[in-house]
Amino acid sequence: MTERLSPGDLIEVALPLPLDQTFTYRAGPDGAPAVGTRVLVPFGRDEKVGWVVGHPDQGPRGRKVRPLLSVLDREPTVSAEILELARWMAAYYVAPLGITLRAASPAVLTDSSRHVLSLVENPVDPGSADRGELPSGGGPGGVGAGEMAAGGAGGTTRREAAVLEGLRAAAGPRSVRGLRKALDMGSIWPEVRALVARGLIEHEVVPPAPPPVKTRRVVEVVDWVEDLQELEARFGRARRQREAYDWLAAAGGRADLKAVLETGGFSRAVIAGLEERGLVTLRDEEVMRDPFRDQPTGEAPRFTPTPDQARVLEGLVSLLDEDPPPPALVHGITGSGKTLVYIELLREVVLGRGRSAIVLVPEISLTPQTTRRFREQFGDLVAVLHSGLSDGERYDAWRQLRSGEKRIAVGARSAIFAPLPDLGAVIVDEEHEGTYKQSEAPRYHGRDLAVLRAVRAGALCVLGSATPSLETWSNARSGKYRHFSLPERATGQPLPPVRVVDLREARKTGSAAGGGPGGQGSRGSVLAQPLVEAVADRLTRGEQAILLLNRRGYSAFVQCQECGDVRVCPHCSISLTYHRVTSRVLCHHCRYEEPAPRRCERCGSTDLSFRGLGTEQVERVVSETFPSARVARMDVDTTSGKWAHHEILGRVERKEVDILLGTQMIAKGLDFHSVTLVGVINADVGIHLPDFRASERAYQLLSQVAGRTGRGALGGEVIVQTSLPDHFVIRHAVDHDYEGFARRELSEREDPPYPPHVRLANVILSSPEEERAAKAAEAGARWLRNWATRHRPDLDVVGPAPSPIERLHGRWRWHFLFRGATPGTVGAAARALMDQYGGQSLGDVRVSLDRDPVALL
Ligand code: ADP
Ligand code: ZN
Ligand code: ZN
Repeated sequence: MTERLSPGDLIEVALPLPLDQTFTYRAGPDGAPAVGTRVLVPFGRDEKVGWVVGHPDQGPRGRKVRPLLSVLDREPTVSAEILELARWMAAYYVAPLGITLRAASPAVLTDSSRHVLSLVENPVDPGSADRGELPSGGGPGGVGAGEMAAGGAGGTTRREAAVLEGLRAAAGPRSVRGLRKALDMGSIWPEVRALVARGLIEHEVVPPAPPPVKTRRVVEVVDWVEDLQELEARFGRARRQREAYDWLAAAGGRADLKAVLETGGFSRAVIAGLEERGLVTLRDEEVMRDPFRDQPTGEAPRFTPTPDQARVLEGLVSLLDEDPPPPALVHGITGSGKTLVYIELLREVVLGRGRSAIVLVPEISLTPQTTRRFREQFGDLVAVLHSGLSDGERYDAWRQLRSGEKRIAVGARSAIFAPLPDLGAVIVDEEHEGTYKQSEAPRYHGRDLAVLRAVRAGALCVLGSATPSLETWSNARSGKYRHFSLPERATGQPLPPVRVVDLREARKTGSAAGGGPGGQGSRGSVLAQPLVEAVADRLTRGEQAILLLNRRGYSAFVQCQECGDVRVCPHCSISLTYHRVTSRVLCHHCRYEEPAPRRCERCGSTDLSFRGLGTEQVERVVSETFPSARVARMDVDTTSGKWAHHEILGRVERKEVDILLGTQMIAKGLDFHSVTLVGVINADVGIHLPDFRASERAYQLLSQVAGRTGRGALGGEVIVQTSLPDHFVIRHAVDHDYEGFARRELSEREDPPYPPHVRLANVILSSPEEERAAKAAEAGARWLRNWATRHRPDLDVVGPAPSPIERLHGRWRWHFLFRGATPGTVGAAARALMDQYGGQSLGDVRVSLDRDPVALL
């Protein structure tokens, strides 16, 4: 690691650029910095921060090798372990090494604008004793980039003098970038290095200051008028005020003023009117930045593990002594007490054996509720890496982990790169979560990296879930991973009963709220009678209900209202998407298309629905059906800021909310004993997203959301509304039968083959012009098919077709898929394809590759 080479040596540098190569530079007079050290190098007319990744014997033939500008670290900031991980990512996901290294590093370290210079007060350099009047013109030859005057030689060049002058004029520290701009004399790094070497100036990397405290104006209901008649009386003819009041009530009694004005469409005068009546107040509130900062540490009740927990724990601990420990799946139902198992395992690894550990959780469940449990047990040994940290705070945590001051990193996806020495365990909670996959380059999967890093470090990797991904499940079945299960809830409570309400029946009998005649769209029932009664029942008992609204698909599918059947592609077995303009249905994998059906293929009914339920429609029906309930909705319109959902959950916890209405995000990690009802408004939406994982996601969601209730002594119940009561996802969810579901889903994925039976990659081509995206996709798929016949006949290319999300950020998107039986085949194809198209510019067409995609959007 500390190999020292003689001056003039070459270094290989990885730069965070979308170019699939590394670059060679010449080291300075101090010799080549060690691998893993950051350096500043000239690049074109610019300067860039990169990492030394090797020491080549010779430079690229026929090209002049430029000298580096500055060595930025005294010690390498990337360890051999992380560099190896970055190299693996670069090869596997076909991404430049500089890009994977950047993903693995705190942002501060890759940002060259953080380099700050200051004058040294009393320099000891003999050559500069006379600080007031520096001699100019150190050498007639002029000092070119990199060829600096030797340290301590005494002479100060004209350029160096200019740098010193610039710093003196600033009367305080100055960024290198700012100074360079002001002086307008090209790169000043050679001068900086020389002056630093002579002790005349100081150079440090300064993390950005945390942003100042931000406030926002909030409107809050202070007087709850529950009685309808009283409401009428209070508002009289002030209709807009009444509407604004209702709107606020539906938002849970609080909203940002901005949202009230913009989303709600109410004027300031209307709000002022409400304030005058004493119904609402307006105040400034601090935008919450870090809800973890003031969390209590240490001193918490310690449970005695149940016999099941003890058995799993013992199994895991015994794996620690294998070399390397095999990855383990802990399949535990919701509420089975997986967290306690993690905590006790960490106690052994971190406190018992003095090693370190990483705990990955999905960002959304990185709630104070979850992290508090680790903080309570391990106090200041824990660093919580969450998205609310400023770059500076993140960098601090990174340093504390590196120095061993903190030994447990709890965080989302990127915490897998925590610079922990002597890693003993990596835990991935809710390992099935799609958010572990990064959605931009490098498109790595945090869980897969966890397994890899752990194995290489000789650490134990524990994957925990109530509904494991089918990849992990089949690895556990095949014996590649060890398999542990926690089949019961730790508290001894049973899983809640799940009742299915058949929406087809409800429609026929007209028993649904929000149904009724009318044009297309208002037909869909929202709340069937059994769900209405169940909610009403909770309201009278003072208990709480969660209503889950599957986000409407980004596309519409065609469903028979009579039998529930949905049109799927005959080749890909994914739902066909309805396109209103052309009145056709289309497969977004293989581009199979046909005219939009007029009658159901299965039962012949002409009663077809062409769109899912809208969020707005559901909200309206819920608040009309339960006018006196305090409804909070979890969406981006009523709140702003990163921690908005924490605030809403806080209100649920304090029982300021009767009904929580929300999307997927409410299904995760909540543990509220007074939530005794979970209602799923329409389970069909999730099952029919055009994606081979739709069923898996739908099952996971149903089982997660069911896990939110029945946790306390009050018990609980789940009601699922669906037009497909016989669909296997629904049936197994009702029975809480994950294994049955997994068996069936694995067989569904055999033909046509999908992961985990095969490996898959998705190639997305986007352009501001649809035509060009389509052409490029066709050319790319054709090229790959040709390549495959020559090199990998077992490769299967599907498509191209427009992406399910056809337009994003002003770009049209097309995609094609390829699959192969082995990672080798898919890897070779990915590499060949990106060599052909990746680096080279295709005009305005962008090509991106997503290996092992979690969603095909
Ligand atoms: P999971 O993550 O598996 O869904 P949790 O770890 O959230 O489950 O635990 C569910 C509930 O059971 C929590 O309220 C937790 O405090 C409680 N619990 C866990 N283990 C025990 C135990 N051994 N004795 C008593 N209560 C426990
Ligand atoms: Zn039908
Ligand atoms: Zn198809």
